[in-house]
Amino acid sequence: MIKKYANAQRIKLFTQYSILFLILTACLLGQQTLIYAGRLLNPGDGKVLENVEILIEGNTIINIGKGLKHDRSARIISLKKETVLPGLIDSHTHICLTPDYGVKPPVLYKTNSYRALEGLAAAQKALLAGFTTLRDIDNEGADMADIAVRDAIKEGLFMGPRLIVSGWAISITSGHMNLTGLRPVIDKKVQQYAIMADNKDAMIAAIRNQNKTGVDFIKIYSTGTLRHINRDNYEVLPQYDQEEVEYMVKEASRWGMDVATHAYGGKGAYDAVAGGVRSIEHGMFLDEKTLNLMVRKGTFWCPTMTVYLPEEGMNSEDKIFHEEIAKRHRETFKKAFKKGVKIAFGTDIGAMPHGDGWTELETMVNYGMSPVEALNSATEIGAELIRMEDKLGRIAPGYLADIIAVKGKPDKNIRAMQNVSFVMVNGDVVKHSK
Ligand SMILES: [Zn+2]
Repeated sequence: MIKKYANAQRIKLFTQYSILFLILTACLLGQQTLIYAGRLLNPGDGKVLENVEILIEGNTIINIGKGLKHDRSARIISLKKETVLPGLIDSHTHICLTPDYGVKPPVLYKTNSYRALEGLAAAQKALLAGFTTLRDIDNEGADMADIAVRDAIKEGLFMGPRLIVSGWAISITSGHMNLTGLRPVIDKKVQQYAIMADNKDAMIAAIRNQNKTGVDFIKIYSTGTLRHINRDNYEVLPQYDQEEVEYMVKEASRWGMDVATHAYGGKGAYDAVAGGVRSIEHGMFLDEKTLNLMVRKGTFWCPTMTVYLPEEGMNSEDKIFHEEIAKRHRETFKKAFKKGVKIAFGTDIGAMPHGDGWTELETMVNYGMSPVEALNSATEIGAELIRMEDKLGRIAPGYLADIIAVKGKPDKNIRAMQNVSFVMVNGDVVKHSK
């Protein structure tokens, strides 16, 4: 009898708390925010609207205009002296990598738990610099750290950007992402940067396992890296051929996933495009034939140019090598842009310091894009690449409330993007410096 009474009390209390929770949730979800924007720039159409209001409910933009009706309880934010833009999308990041990876390979020196924490810190840095969405294009051997960071942010445990992650990448033995030069006895025991898949069975198993762990897309390596470039003729090692790429693209699509590939150029890049990848990453040596095929097939290109520029302190041989790479990157960029290849903004951040993403916008402008075109590649084109063009990349009714602001006019001077003063992600304000 007593037990029955206690149970009834518990049910009553549970019901009361549930109702309270539902009311609170409804209030929060329906919370309105009204932003006064001095200038509103949507890079997709390049138009600037002056002195307009943006009305947000919960995490969604519901109206744009002047003198908008809103709830009396609406939160008011003044960005009257700023240019307001959609949150930026970086389509090529490595949150679980830091620029010292060459000196201290993280697969040898860091635990994956520590790398997850580094990944969270990196993601937060990107967010505060205006990047509200990151397409994190392989965790560089940090096991499931990228998935953990994505989920912890999604669950609301930490502030952070929206993350689209690829987990482990897939490459070939002795190719890119395979540590080389170690004693065989050590090599066997060392965790690699990627899954090594040398035949079709291994490729299929890798993709299925990746899907099981909860990745959003698949990253493969279609060519080698800098050490695989022939310094006489600048040809790069091809890794997977067209048939193998087709095989992987087909398996990934069974699980609703796209395939992105690292490819510098040559046969590896052509075979990747012909095999149906969604995007080519880096691509500094893409030739005419491959660029034309990319236009025909609608393949995206994520060039990541800043990270390949020569650095101070390089020896003269490396400097010449990197100057040549930068020259070819610039020429390919101009050609691809002219041909109408869909160019998505990406930094390769992790290989460069976290938080410095805006520098790639400047490189794109230096290489011939207008500031608005560069910003468009980091908003609407990035959104299309991740198939979220109906939700991200634009400030318009029905879109998610990913909104940033900068002082100055980034449509006139791209360097204004260096200092992002306001960041809202999914309706939450995470930065507002006045
Ligand atoms: Zn990369």
